[in-house]
Amino acid sequence: MLNKKNNKLVVISAPSGTGKTTLVNLLVEKNSEFKFSISHTTRKKRPNETDGKDYFFIDSPKFNELISREYFAEYAKVFGNWYGTSKKNIKSNLEKGEWVILELDWQGASQIRKNESNCLSIFLLPPTKRHLSDRLNSRSTDTKDEIRQRLEEAVSDMSHWTEFDYVVINDDINKAFKKIENILRGKGEESSISNMQHRKRIMKIIESN
Ligand code: 5GP
Repeated sequence: MLNKKNNKLVVISAPSGTGKTTLVNLLVEKNSEFKFSISHTTRKKRPNETDGKDYFFIDSPKFNELISREYFAEYAKVFGNWYGTSKKNIKSNLEKGEWVILELDWQGASQIRKNESNCLSIFLLPPTKRHLSDRLNSRSTDTKDEIRQRLEEAVSDMSHWTEFDYVVINDDINKAFKKIENILRGKGEESSISNMQHRKRIMKIIESN
C-alpha cells in the first residue's frame, strides 16, 4: 500500500465516542503491516485494559520525567489526564518499513503535523451529534461526570476537522473501515477535505444540533 505522499506515518483523530478505537483495532488486525503506536498515559487503567497493550500506564512524576528527557514526539492533556507518544517507537517502526498508526487527540495531531509535514492525517466524525451522546452513554466504564465532560469536549473537538487531510464519517463501521483503507491506498478522493460534496456533508453534521 502506498498513499499519495508515499509516507507511512498516519495520524487518526476523532471526538470521543466516534468509534475511533474500534476502527484502529480493525485496521491493525486486518493489515499486518500496520503498527499501532502504544501511548503513555497518566489516566487510570479501565477494567478491560491491559498495561503495555492498550497504554503504558504511568504516574505524573514519571510522565514529567519523560517530558524533560524529550522522550515524546507529542504530548497533550486530554480530559484532565496526560497522553504522549514515544519518539523511539515511531522511529523504529518506520525504519523497519512498517506503517505507524497514531491515535491522537487533535492537539497531539497538530504537533505531529508540525514536525512531520508528510504524515497523512484522518479525522473521524459521527453521522450526527446524537450518535456521540448515545455512544458515550453506552460505555459503561465511564462515570456520569466523565461522560458529560467528554460529550462537551467531543462537540467542541469536531470543529478541528479543517486541520486534517481527510474526514471519514463513521455511519457504518465496515464502510468507514473501507474508506480508511482507500485513503491509505492513495484512493481517498471521496474523503478528501478538498472534495466540495464531502465538505457539504461535513458542514451538515457540524451545524446539526
Ligand atoms: P481514552 O482515555 O479514551 O483512551 O483516550 C482519550 C483521548 O486521548 C482520545 O482522544 C485519544 O485519541 C487520545 N490519546 C490517546 N493516546 C494519545 C497520545 O499519545 N497523545 C495524544 N495527544 N492523545 C492521545
